[in-house]
Amino acid sequence: MEGYPIFNEEHRAIRKTIREFVAKELTPHADEWEEAEEFPSWVFKRMGELGFLGLHFPEEYGGEGGDYLCKVILAEEMSNCLSGGVAMGVGVQTDMVCPLLLKVGSESVKERFLKPALRGDQIGCLGITEPDAGSDVASLRTTAEREGDHFMINGQKTFITNGVRADFAVVVARARGSEGAKGISLLIVEKGTPGFSVARKLDKVGMRSSDTAELAFQDCRVPAENLLGEEGQGFYHIMWELQPERLFGAVSSVAGAQLTLEATLKYVRERVQFGRPIGKFQAIRHRLAELATQIEAARQLTYYVAGLINTGHFPAKEISMAKLYATRVAYHVADEALQFHGGYGYMMEYPIQRFWRDSRLSRIGGGTDEIMLEIISKQIGL
Ligand SMILES: Cc1cc2nc3c(=O)[nH]c(=O)nc-3n(C[C@H](O)[C@H](O)[C@H](O)COP(=O)(O)OP(=O)(O)OC[C@H]3O[C@@H](n4cnc5c(N)ncnc54)[C@H](O)[C@@H]3O)c2cc1C
Repeated sequence: MEGYPIFNEEHRAIRKTIREFVAKELTPHADEWEEAEEFPSWVFKRMGELGFLGLHFPEEYGGEGGDYLCKVILAEEMSNCLSGGVAMGVGVQTDMVCPLLLKVGSESVKERFLKPALRGDQIGCLGITEPDAGSDVASLRTTAEREGDHFMINGQKTFITNGVRADFAVVVARARGSEGAKGISLLIVEKGTPGFSVARKLDKVGMRSSDTAELAFQDCRVPAENLLGEEGQGFYHIMWELQPERLFGAVSSVAGAQLTLEATLKYVRERVQFGRPIGKFQAIRHRLAELATQIEAARQLTYYVAGLINTGHFPAKEISMAKLYATRVAYHVADEALQFHGGYGYMMEYPIQRFWRDSRLSRIGGGTDEIMLEIISKQIGL
């Protein structure tokens, strides 16, 4: 957070501006957007105007030219809006879609999609997951058949964040007959392209203000200029993309856990049972002290990895460790916090239940706990 040596004066100023924006323009709407099961698209536009979507993107594409830590600050401060779905919807734009457009997009792609996305004029989504291909990305079945100057896409994607409202989708698909990691490409499909439709909006346990879609592609013709990155190299582009996405998950989890802890500390100081505040019972004090320690450990690991990414390194082992540990800590903190709230914790009118539901996703999205453990096992030589 702001006092940590990893951040400088400029970072602190950015944090202050984002914090004020979140408190004034987002947090007051959290309950309404959770109830409506969506947040309005003006959030993207407004954040684009304020420069928040482009904090860590080059100025030539409309970004602010800041370092990676600016994006860490954005992810942390977005947690304060008290609706995980809003933070996630915006995070998909800033940490999943736009980094890919910048890293592997042609100049034409950057002009047509990256610039409007950083302004918040266009919203993007990233379609990797399919009904029969989740953790095993290389088994995806959606096809993109090259036919002269266009590609013909057929298949289905599921669990796609921002998928309902997206102006364009980055779709991961393979050449017919190809297998495994080979033959996979990324294609940008614009809303309204014949053959591209939102099959349905999905109903979720948490992150309820974000939209999550199933997407369908039936003989969907996309011009070859919408190819993102190198043809046949899509699997490797996605493996790169998943690294910053995972750290985003870790950063958001630590920030969410801190908020949950603070709300719980307040509660246990105020709630009186057996003649004293429940926070005075050692059984509770010690568990809260443990939670605070775990959050601190998760934060230190996350900041260490953020520092490495800031200098251009993407260490798969440490990123996976940070994602695994921070997301587990966040869910554990939320679960313990709910316990300390007793029956009130289980009531919808208290915010704890939302932290509990929202925090559960991070152990699944962007690579499950088990996949993180697989990566770490390989990296330690097993
Ligand atoms: C709300 C939400 C938003 C999402 N947003 C997006 C998005 O924007 N874009 C997108 O492309 N995807 C998105 N996803 C999909 C997400 O990335 C996948 O759900 C995730 O990768 C897991 O895939 P799966 O759900 O198919 O589970 P599966 O892969 O079927 O896994 C089921 C279980 O088996 C375990 N398992 C699988 N393989 C192994 C193994 N080798 N060893 C041990 N255990 C294993 C898993 O860890 C898990 O516990 C989203 C998901 C959700 C729920």
